[in-house]
Order: sequence, then structure tokens, then C-alpha cells
Amino acid sequence: MSGFVLTKDQRDLKRLAAEFGKQVMLPAAKEYDLLGETPLEIYKQAVEIGFASVTLPAEYGGLGLDMTTQCLLTEELSRWEAGITNALGASSLASKPIMIAGSPAQKQYAVDMIQSGHLAAFGLTEPDAGSDAAALKTTAVRRDGGYVLNGRKCFITNAPYASFFVIFAKTQKNIGTHGITAFLVEADRPGVSVGRHEDKMGLRLSAAADVILENVFVPEENRLGEEGKGFVIAMKTLDASRAEVAAAAVGIAQSALDQSVEYTKNRICFGKPISKLQAVQFMLADMEIQTQAARSLVYHAAELIDNGLPYGLMCAAAKCMAGDTAMKVTTDAVQIFSGYGYMRDYPIEKLMRDAKLFQIFEGTNQIQRVVVSGALLR
Ligand SMILES: Cc1cc2nc3c(=O)[nH]c(=O)nc-3n(C[C@H](O)[C@H](O)[C@H](O)COP(=O)(O)OP(=O)(O)OC[C@H]3O[C@@H](n4cnc5c(N)ncnc54)[C@H](O)[C@@H]3O)c2cc1C
Repeated sequence: MSGFVLTKDQRDLKRLAAEFGKQVMLPAAKEYDLLGETPLEIYKQAVEIGFASVTLPAEYGGLGLDMTTQCLLTEELSRWEAGITNALGASSLASKPIMIAGSPAQKQYAVDMIQSGHLAAFGLTEPDAGSDAAALKTTAVRRDGGYVLNGRKCFITNAPYASFFVIFAKTQKNIGTHGITAFLVEADRPGVSVGRHEDKMGLRLSAAADVILENVFVPEENRLGEEGKGFVIAMKTLDASRAEVAAAAVGIAQSALDQSVEYTKNRICFGKPISKLQAVQFMLADMEIQTQAARSLVYHAAELIDNGLPYGLMCAAAKCMAGDTAMKVTTDAVQIFSGYGYMRDYPIEKLMRDAKLFQIFEGTNQIQRVVVSGALLR
């Protein structure tokens, strides 16, 4: 992509994603939204097409493409169904710390697992450590050529289905972030269990649950990078993944806008379509302006990543803007659909529920503002 002109490969990928989204993901949305479960067959179909492989390194068998292409794919899939897209995104999120700090064997393991349809999960948050992730209490104590992990992670996306986790734990107490280390933990290790499947407001086609670690032994070769480097690995992971999350939020906003435009042409009030009312036209205009502005930030952030330039501030700005925009635009879409928008028979209220999470996870939008202002004032 140069500016906003897509390459032929990117256009082809977007078209493929749109076909898959419309024909496969969207028809499952209502049923699985009610169930609050991930349609694993559809997830696996997406993996088979290559949708989980975009940024996995080519040297390990991935497609080795750039973040811009990943964002284009994520935005398009999310336009049709953001929950399944989020399940794919959570596996991608779990792969990132491994690609940042893992050994060649760990990288090959992650790529092989993800590309064969296994789900993965990123385990940082704990009941008393959300925004303040460094306050985590999970411990990893050295024993017999490895570590014994104890603790509880919460709200972990993909946890009920994941085959492996990346877990952040304290190897040393009382030295703050320098005491945190990252581990690759296979789900079938003795002592690993998953809690109650959370009954979420939105993004219900991706599942979240606690991950409980009770005397879980992992060998030394499961440590990711050096001891004490876990917090840096987690922050690097989140810095980059925010562009992808922001792209998903833009996809939701676009979907709400597209559906609103069509609805206004057909809904008759006072003898004419509501699209003839300037008050409604201006709402649509604002929705378009806000969605395009959020999209600009997303692809600017992705471009910085792809060119090896500092991207922390722009990714935080993009995630904040796109999350807030998705919330605003979907709320306006419900307003345009009004009574019908409020009913579950129409697909609009789901978009509003889905959008809300984008102001909360991968760092709340308050925390993104902390990141942006911190970068400005440093
Ligand atoms: C559905 C879902 C899926 C998730 N998936 C994952 C996952 O896969 N892996 C994972 O590790 N985590 C995951 N999370 C956790 C998510 O990242 C946290 O919920 C988020 O970071 C906020 O933490 P908290 O919920 O504990 O809120 P808190 O940290 O308790 O924050 C409460 C409020 O205080 C505000 N606040 C806190 N500190 C500050 C500050 N310094 N300045 C300004 N405002 C502040 C927050 O913005 C928020 O409004 C998920 C969460 C949800 C809801």
C-alpha cells in the first residue's frame, strides 16, 4: 500500500476476506452471538485460507507479510463479524511475544500450532492487575531445571479453546517490572485449568475465561527470552498489536455506517425517506468523517511499524481513536435505526455491543491517553 492505494495482492486479499465474511462468518453471527461461543469450524476454515498466517514469519512457514496487510484483512473480516476476527486476533496476539523473544524452536512451535488451526491466548491480566499489569501476582519459582507457576489470569480471550498460552509471571518479587518473565505454557500441562466461560456483553463469538495455574511445571526451554524481560516483551507486543485491534474497530464502524446509509434510503417518515432529512444526512456525514479519520490513523500506525519507525504513540492514538469512533458510530447507527436498531432482530445493536470492548481491552482508552501524553511530555 502506498498512501491509500492498495496493491493488487492487497485488493485480492480484501476481496477474499469480504467473500468469506459475507458468505461464512456473517450467517453464523446471530446463532453464536446468542450462544456466546466461537464457531470453531469457521475459525479453522479461516486458518486454512491463510487468514491467521499474514504476519507469521516466512522463515517458519508463515506468509511474512506486513502490518498494513494484516490491518486490511482484520478491518475487512471485522466489517462482517468482529467476534471471530477477534478470536483470530487473540491467537495472533499470543504469537507476538514468541516472535519477539522466543527461540527458533518456540517460534516454529507457535507457527505450526496456529497454522494447523489451534487457538492461542495471551495471559497478562489478573483480577487485581488490569491497567496496572505490573501488579500481577502469578509466580514462577525455579525448580528442577524449570519453573513452577502458580496464579490466576482473568478475561483471557480464547482461553476456553486455547492449546497454548503465553503467561506473564513474577520470577522475582519486590523489583517491580524487572521481576516479570514470560513463559509459553501448553494447555495440557498438569495444573492448567480454565475457569467459567464469561458471559460477555459483546464480541460474543470470541470467548474469554480465567486461566488457573496450580503448581504447573514448565521446563526452562519454555521461558520466552531472559528472566526479568517479560514486562518489556508484553509492552512491545501490545504496542504493535494495537494497530490490528484498531483496524477491527474501524471495520465495525464501517459496517454500522454502510447499513445506516442503506436504511435511511428506505425508511419513510413524513412521506419521504429519512435520507432526505438534513439532520440525518449530517449524522451520516459525521459517521463517515470519523470512520475515515480513524482509518487514517490505523494505516499511518501500520506504515510506521512496516518501516521500522517509532510507532508506540501512533498505535496508541489509533487504538484510542478507532475504539471511540466505533462506539460513537455504532451508537449513531442505533439512533438512525431507532426502535428497530434497539431490537435484536436487527444486526445493529450487536455492533454497538461489539464496539464497546474496543475502548476497554488491550489497554483501556484512558491508558492509551496516558501513553500518548507520556510520549508528548517525555
Ligand atoms: C472481553 C475481554 C477480553 C480480554 N482479553 C484479554 C486477553 O486476551 N489477555 C489479557 O491479558 N487481558 C485481556 N483483557 C483484559 C483487559 O486488557 C483489561 O480489562 C483492561 O486492561 C483493563 O483492566 P481492568 O478491567 O482491570 O480495569 P482497571 O485497570 O481496574 O481500570 C478501571 C478503570 O480505571 C481506569 N484507569 C486505571 N488506571 C488508570 C490510569 N493510570 N489513568 C487513567 N485511568 C485509569 C481505566 O481506564 C478504567 O476505566 C480482556 C478484557 C475483556 C473485558
